[in-house]
Amino acid sequence: MASTVPPLRLRALNRAPIRGDRSYVLYWMIGQRRIAWNFALDRAVERARALRRPLVILEALRCDYPWASLRHHRFALDGMRDHRKACAGLPVFHYPYVEPSPGAGRGLLEALAHGAAAVVTDDMPFFFFPRMLEAAARKLDVRLEAVDSHGLLPLRQPDRDFITAYSFRIHLHKHLLLHLGEMPRPTPMEEGSLPSAVGLGAEDGPLREILRRWRPASDDLLSAGAGLEEVAVSRAVAPVPFSGGPAAARRRLRHFLEQKLSRYDAERNDPDADVGSRLSPYLHWGHLSAHEIFQRLAEQEDWTPNRVDESVPKGRREGWWGMSPPSEAFLDELVTWREIGFNAWVRHGEAVEHYDSLPAWARETLADHEDDPRAHCYDLRAFDDAETHDPLWNAAQRELRTEGTIHNYLRMLWGKKILEWSVTPRDALEIMLELNNRYAVDGRDPNSTSGITWVLGRYDRGWPERDIYGKVRSMSSRSTRRKVSVARYLERFGESSS
Ligand SMILES: Cc1cc2nc3c(=O)[nH]c(=O)nc-3n(C[C@H](O)[C@H](O)[C@H](O)COP(=O)(O)OP(=O)(O)OC[C@H]3O[C@@H](n4cnc5c(N)ncnc54)[C@H](O)[C@@H]3O)c2cc1C
Repeated sequence: MASTVPPLRLRALNRAPIRGDRSYVLYWMIGQRRIAWNFALDRAVERARALRRPLVILEALRCDYPWASLRHHRFALDGMRDHRKACAGLPVFHYPYVEPSPGAGRGLLEALAHGAAAVVTDDMPFFFFPRMLEAAARKLDVRLEAVDSHGLLPLRQPDRDFITAYSFRIHLHKHLLLHLGEMPRPTPMEEGSLPSAVGLGAEDGPLREILRRWRPASDDLLSAGAGLEEVAVSRAVAPVPFSGGPAAARRRLRHFLEQKLSRYDAERNDPDADVGSRLSPYLHWGHLSAHEIFQRLAEQEDWTPNRVDESVPKGRREGWWGMSPPSEAFLDELVTWREIGFNAWVRHGEAVEHYDSLPAWARETLADHEDDPRAHCYDLRAFDDAETHDPLWNAAQRELRTEGTIHNYLRMLWGKKILEWSVTPRDALEIMLELNNRYAVDGRDPNSTSGITWVLGRYDRGWPERDIYGKVRSMSSRSTRRKVSVARYLERFGESSS
């Protein structure tokens, strides 16, 4: 089958055949939770057209994934609500399933796959996903393909590690241009015809028994959370005070491009200015695609690939794209920093979260300073409850607890201080992972790992030696307050805010 999905983004996970006599093509949406700008959906649509079978999208939400809580659930449900609405007018069967209790969803994928001519899913080389995909590949008797739709550079294009952002940027400057023309489709299900999905769930339809056993989430659950109290998921972390889902993501993107981007390079580090895009939760849940962000930015810049300036020395942060300085600064975060984190997971799997995976120089220097006296030392509970002596740190922790993210610059400070105030650097790593993944609605992401391990020296160079940090870069609240303005931030998240 001729495909518009770049071969580098496509992997067959088993050798089972395509079963053209079966009823539908199944897209098992597990990570790239969106129905636009998604190579996996493009592949599923292509399969459905070629096999002349209707398309079923299974969008399931387990209740026992690590750090599952009401916060993460609500955000994911918002996306499912948007998809249900958008799919209502399209020739597709959208099947949102919210597992009510651990294990209740077991068997659903297999049952659906029994009626599928082919199964397409998202390539997710992080966290529990690889194990889940391997298990599915073993069980299914039909072809299972995984498609990578994470970023502008295909996950499996680099065949090496990168130890600095600079070396990754050099790689991008050599290879990225080739992949910029490969865009997923903005509206894949509306371009050309798809076999009708009407009747799949009817009394005599192939999905009838499955829908009876694994009931699709109701509109009330998806939009108003009705019945969410019966879902066995931790109540310990409340939902964030903003909506998830592609519709909210697009509003935020528009607002960023129109109101904030022009100040991004100059004021990004300033918490009071708050000119970051705040798109990381939507990127994490797959509600928004890096390709769509890039496309909108390129339109705003009136940019075409021939603006790339190949004469700029490779690896330099500014100038290569041929865009305005704020846009180039933003792309450096969205592409260089976001995608370097994927590289580590693709190549090393969950080992990248282990302390021993840090660069040797960082482990050595941190070990040299492990016994340095700490003026302040806190355990997980004190950090969690924002009970340190430092009002700025406490404010950042409160932002994490209530908003589900921390302003980018303060996120670095947040991590550096955990390193400084923990008994050992190993404890600091555990505490950062626990708090970040528990509260951050963009947490449990390769960027969580890269941000947290950056605190401990990954992707960085050695700095002048200091107590506790050794040669690992240090940060202080006092100099942060000198460099950037935090008055409004402290008003919002300071002691009196709680
Ligand atoms: C201790 C620590 C923990 C972190 N945990 C997470 C996390 O759980 N999830 C997460 O997505 N990011 C994490 N980061 C990276 C970064 O702080 C956030 O991605 C960024 O603050 C998100 O804000 P934004 O969407 O406004 O970013 P913008 O400045 O608008 O950037 C656009 C996008 O680029 C990516 N990006 C920006 N900065 C970074 C960075 N430093 N590293 C990697 N990607 C980046 C994000 O996808 C972001 O949405 C962490 C950083 C640190 C130091």
